[in-house]
Amino acid sequence: MMNCMQLSKQNRRKYILDMTSAQLKTAVKSIIGQDYRINQIIEWVYVKRAISFEYFTNLPKELREQLSERFFLRILKTVKKEKSVIDGTTRYTFQTADKKYFFAVFLPAKDKNSVCISSQIGCPVMCAFCSSGKVKFTRNLSRGEIIEQILQIENDTKEKVSGVLFMGMGEPMLNFNNITSVLDSLLSNKEFGIGKRHITVSSVGIVPLIKRLADGNSGIRLAISIHAVDEKQRKKLIPNNFGFSIKDILNAGKYYLKKTNSRLTIEYVLIKGINNSAADAHKLARLLKQHNLLNPDVQVNLIPFNPITDAQFQTPHQESIQKFKNILKLNGITVNIRQAKGTDINAACGQLGH
Ligand code: SF4
Repeated sequence: MMNCMQLSKQNRRKYILDMTSAQLKTAVKSIIGQDYRINQIIEWVYVKRAISFEYFTNLPKELREQLSERFFLRILKTVKKEKSVIDGTTRYTFQTADKKYFFAVFLPAKDKNSVCISSQIGCPVMCAFCSSGKVKFTRNLSRGEIIEQILQIENDTKEKVSGVLFMGMGEPMLNFNNITSVLDSLLSNKEFGIGKRHITVSSVGIVPLIKRLADGNSGIRLAISIHAVDEKQRKKLIPNNFGFSIKDILNAGKYYLKKTNSRLTIEYVLIKGINNSAADAHKLARLLKQHNLLNPDVQVNLIPFNPITDAQFQTPHQESIQKFKNILKLNGITVNIRQAKGTDINAACGQLGH
């Protein structure tokens, strides 16, 4: 049993991943004077992905003990891990210290391993085709909780992650400060060192925050979820769209491209009988033309609906998916049909909620 002194020390411990490197430096100033020691700590945390302070072997034992008295290095518990027999995609269920649950997905590939990570617990946007939207929004994930998803997956798979998709549970833009702090860590060569073209933040279209991200000019890729070609149709699919029109969202996408010279993806979930007609495809092409988004840096990602519990929707037939794609292609649009990964373990797009 812990005595009072131990308990009060335990309560004062901070989560190291919640701090930027600069904040960490300030936090350890009283016990560490030399910069090279701070750099060693940062290297153990982010580059060597150490799971405990005991592994920081180039630091004196006394210093390691002081660090573990002051900080937590990991706080998430992996409560479930499911691996797809189809493609090796692995879905992780994490539990936070306050006993909330959320998900992340490991997407292995020959050339590049990626992770799809969550930014919130539940999602306030409540898209009708997404099971994350059916989980009541509780809170934003902290900077550390977002980063730890990547570190834990790397520890578990013993694989290096070189691509990060902010497409898990939650709307990343609504957790803007933490997301941008995580982006700094991912891009920093002293921390994750992941190339900007291998990081994608997805958004349902929170216009002012897309512009803020553009002004920060980190150069990462942006994916905006349009999913519909008129406002009525979109409101049905995205009930809480924060009042931004398709026009405003596409203009924000254009602004992002102009400011960052990066790439823009337009996400469009294809649902049978709802938004997958030839007329819808032509209208989408027209919308992109009207907003000057017909250029090689813009790609449309078609996402055939992935089944979820309690949804009335159906996946369109292959033929109609191809037809939709061909119409866009004939209009000069770069278009890709997203291959669903991990469908046997509910790890595909829109399935991270149960
Ligand atoms: S698709 Fe994205 S924004 Fe919509 S409910 Fe799911 S997680 Fe939220």
